[in-house]
Amino acid sequence: MNTFTVPPYRIKMVEPIKQTTYQDRKEYLEKAHNNLFLLPSEAVYIDLLTDSGTGAMSHFQWAALMQGDESYAGSKSFYRFEEAVKDITGYEYIIPVHQGRGAEQVVMPLLAKQPGMYFISNMHFDTTRAHVELAGATAIDCVVDECFNVDTFSPFKGNMNVEKCEKYIKDLGRENIAGIIMTMTNNSAGGQPVSLENLREVHALTQKYDISLIIDGARFAENSCFVKQREKGYESSEIKDIAREMFDYADIFLMSAKKDALVNIGGLIAIKEDKEFFQECQGRTVPYEGFPTYGGLAGRDMEALAVGLKEGLDEDYLIHRLDQVRYLSEKLREAGVPVQYPAGGHAVFVDCKSICPHIPFDHFPAQSVCNALYLEAGVRTVEVGSFLLGRDPKTGQNIESPFEWMRLAIPRRTYTYAHLDHVAEGVINVYKKRKELKGLDFDYEPKVLRHFTANLRYI
Ligand SMILES: *Cc1c(COP(=O)(O)O)cnc(C)c1O
Repeated sequence: MNTFTVPPYRIKMVEPIKQTTYQDRKEYLEKAHNNLFLLPSEAVYIDLLTDSGTGAMSHFQWAALMQGDESYAGSKSFYRFEEAVKDITGYEYIIPVHQGRGAEQVVMPLLAKQPGMYFISNMHFDTTRAHVELAGATAIDCVVDECFNVDTFSPFKGNMNVEKCEKYIKDLGRENIAGIIMTMTNNSAGGQPVSLENLREVHALTQKYDISLIIDGARFAENSCFVKQREKGYESSEIKDIAREMFDYADIFLMSAKKDALVNIGGLIAIKEDKEFFQECQGRTVPYEGFPTYGGLAGRDMEALAVGLKEGLDEDYLIHRLDQVRYLSEKLREAGVPVQYPAGGHAVFVDCKSICPHIPFDHFPAQSVCNALYLEAGVRTVEVGSFLLGRDPKTGQNIESPFEWMRLAIPRRTYTYAHLDHVAEGVINVYKKRKELKGLDFDYEPKVLRHFTANLRYI
């Protein structure tokens, strides 16, 4: 029986959304050249493109916005924000930035002190990888093998393969490792959590070799809730205490606040105790983000962030949040739709390689399923597969992705279980018609990040 958790909130303000007809959607999709990124949002009924910055704020956050102090330097809002981050992390030095990648552009070049260094991570998120490479370093992913067993339950598929990680450190030389990054939850692996036991082992490794440990913690609260639900010894811990233990193991915390801090824009850098490094970060924040007490944010954004950070750790909220994702995932599994199992914290991943074995990777089976779901139900999702991956820069050939996913990302506090039922029904209907789906090819292919703006046609 697929039960559900009732929400720990009620709705006080509504944003009307409108279902379109099949005929409307056909026209919208044609005008968007069969690329869902090119749809105007009014053409979309339920938008599961991303969970980043798309959540609903509480009345406390909206009230806090009114208290925004827009002083250029030393604003009251900064101090409230700083206090909130210190309270959660226990770290000494806090800098606001405009979003997660703002933190990355400030921090990565400071860690990669000379050209040719390496970052080792359980898995680098796309923008993190981009900033590692822009800093002249190489990004190495070192996630546990369980991560790739799509339909076998494992509680912490986001964990680092610690043995392999240590081997990399030895082989490459400790002096060439710029930092170890733990992405929690592991976004690119579908929001799979990392256990505290694993983090403890990684921490021991960074102590042994004297390497900085960085938490890329956009979803640190969801990760903490998974720890409470799945890790022995934490069943009766407070979420906040689990998060604090997690921060105790690291030196630097980078966050895209558009996820677990429940705001539409924002990010932060928190540094445990290294004052010199903090000063270097401040120095880079000024030209790239803004003066270090606003970092590209309005005072009101820092107010909303300070409140959202605390709300994001509320256990009732988190249980409901994770349960929405699990609920949708279970509905699809019960109908035989192949999905990544167990579901992660923020999204359901549908395995389109096995749904459409008749479409070769370079005709983008997952994109075909995403488009079909839009036509069927007005639901927008995103392809995570060979369309996203692009071409080999040397040979110019399309790279075959190991997975062809349709990702259904669930915005926070935004949709009801009834909306998710509508989504599930749409996916199941598309699944039934899977043999009729056709592959796609390019009408226009941009050279970089092609998936955002490419034009496609059916073949
Ligand atoms: C979203 C995200 C980022 C980048 O943050 P933006 O706010 O989108 O710039 C970095 N790391 C992880 C793990 C993320 O989920």
